[in-house]
Amino acid sequence: MTSASTNDIEFRSVAKRYGSVTAVSDINFAVPRGAFMALLGPSGCGKTTCLRMIGGFEQPSEGTVYINGEAMNGVAAYRRPVNMVFQHYALFPHLDVEQNVSYGLRQMRPRIASAEISRRAQEALEMVRLGGFGKRRIHEMSGGQQQRVALARAIVNKPRVLLLDEPLAALDKKLRTAMQIELQTLQRELGITFVLVTHDQEEALSMSDFVCVMNAGRIVQVGPPQEIYDRPASLFVADFVGKTNRIAATVDNGGASILFANGTRFAAPATTTPSAGAAMVALRPEAISLKRNGAAATAALTGTVTHRIFLGSSVEYSIDVDGLGDFLVTADRRALGDSDLVEPGDKVGLAFDPNALHVFPA
Ligand code: ATP
Repeated sequence: MTSASTNDIEFRSVAKRYGSVTAVSDINFAVPRGAFMALLGPSGCGKTTCLRMIGGFEQPSEGTVYINGEAMNGVAAYRRPVNMVFQHYALFPHLDVEQNVSYGLRQMRPRIASAEISRRAQEALEMVRLGGFGKRRIHEMSGGQQQRVALARAIVNKPRVLLLDEPLAALDKKLRTAMQIELQTLQRELGITFVLVTHDQEEALSMSDFVCVMNAGRIVQVGPPQEIYDRPASLFVADFVGKTNRIAATVDNGGASILFANGTRFAAPATTTPSAGAAMVALRPEAISLKRNGAAATAALTGTVTHRIFLGSSVEYSIDVDGLGDFLVTADRRALGDSDLVEPGDKVGLAFDPNALHVFPA
């Protein structure tokens, strides 16, 4: 049986059990050819298990994994058009950079001519901007450079799909951000399908075309980064992908209005009709604007500033909202202006568009 050939990878009703432990179940998703997909979720949710089933290091207990339309049941890892980059790059310390990159090509049968092997290794090193480093020893390379050697080794035989298991986790924040941009650029240039496993939501949002959010062995939402962030399908997604305020509420008037626990009432967001009853509302910290005391009368909620964290380009406030407790509010410096910085102890109003409320059943 084949799947639509425009998808490089497809999972149909896939489950994986280890003895009595169900690692993942009911996994269904597709990655279009040449796309960048991130598998995102907390530790133990099953991301690596899914990646390893694509690579052929694990076999599904149920269901089928397809690569380029072909069912992969029983197909060994080395026969799949797939390569993998690991968190710990697993480079050979006794070989130089070029030998590390060309290692796989040297094992191929029928043999590839050694001039051709050198040419391809050189090309892969240039792709990752390590053109002049072929003769260096691995221990003479920095962490970021070693990561690039691992990448060059993984792309040297032009796989159809590249699997990346937390490839940037060992790098410091600045280098990680730089490598995120490089990886994205490389993926666009090569046109190879990338599947990235990460528990870092910023990494998933910034690099991928699609994010597959997982929790407790299941997929909870799949979509483009902006859709995941702007229209989270559940409170879990709202919390895990970005920061959010949770507000206890009741939906009444047949779904037309939302009553916060402190008695404040809002119209339900125009785009949804939430079901009546107890609800939990999510509201992004940056969707709230703060009004100083004088202007507070027009605001939806009122409260007192308890903490201010200066982050350079933005400021994070903790606000004790009257009748609702702690809220997080993020204010962009540009929008704010220095004269508008409020201080702990200040009384403020909180204004927001009711359409920014995400309402979920409690
Ligand atoms: P992390 O981010 O911590 O690597 P993950 O999301 O990649 O986590 P997996 O490694 O896929 O999660 O593990 C999913 C679940 O399956 C976990 O509960 C884990 O303990 C279990 N599991 C994974 N491999 C095995 C194994 N070989 N034997 C038994 N249980 C396993």
